Amino acid sequence: MSELEKLLNGNRQWAGRVSSESPEFFPTLAKQQSPDYLWIGCADSRVPANEIVDMLPGDIFVHRNVSNLVLHGDMNCLSVVQYAVQVLKVKQIMVVGHYGCGGVKAALEDTPLGLIGNWLCHIRDVAAKHRSLLARCSCDDNLLDRLCELNVLEQTRNLCNTTMVQEAWRSGQQLEVTGLVYGLEDGLLQELNYSNSEPGGVEQRLEAAVTMLERRCA
Ligand code: ZN
Repeated sequence: MSELEKLLNGNRQWAGRVSSESPEFFPTLAKQQSPDYLWIGCADSRVPANEIVDMLPGDIFVHRNVSNLVLHGDMNCLSVVQYAVQVLKVKQIMVVGHYGCGGVKAALEDTPLGLIGNWLCHIRDVAAKHRSLLARCSCDDNLLDRLCELNVLEQTRNLCNTTMVQEAWRSGQQLEVTGLVYGLEDGLLQELNYSNSEPGGVEQRLEAAVTMLERRCA
């Protein structure tokens, strides 16, 4: 059986199982989606949004890219955020990084990687901004963990500063933005002490969250 045949077989089995357990599931979902969540995560195959939080199709609007970056010039990510905030009116956005992230690891190394090296430059910028904190990490594993966390915090900050999120907050729309990091080894999501639901204080909240991370340097 080819890889594609395996995939299509799996799909038929899944759709049949869901339909038999809940006959109205697909017809209801086909009419509309009204998710409360937007997940901005890494493209890594080990960090699938719905499975990790035990939610069904229809529950989470998802955007994933290499190392969960939220860049102010990335029309793809910004369009997803705009649709989620202005049309779907999600109540919670999570930027979800993960420990052992290959993109973050590659950003720490000097190996030339071609095109993706440009993308990873944004993580190198995060590392440069927080070089004094990272200098306190005594081993590579600790350094990688801290940069994975710092990257989530910086992307969460970027998200808070987008025009869509700022406008939503200024108009009184209920919306919380949070940074989370996922552990590949235990399957658990961890908070990083950075949540925001108002237009001001973005930088101060980031600084406070970074200060909390300093304790994890070893
Ligand atoms: Zn990753």
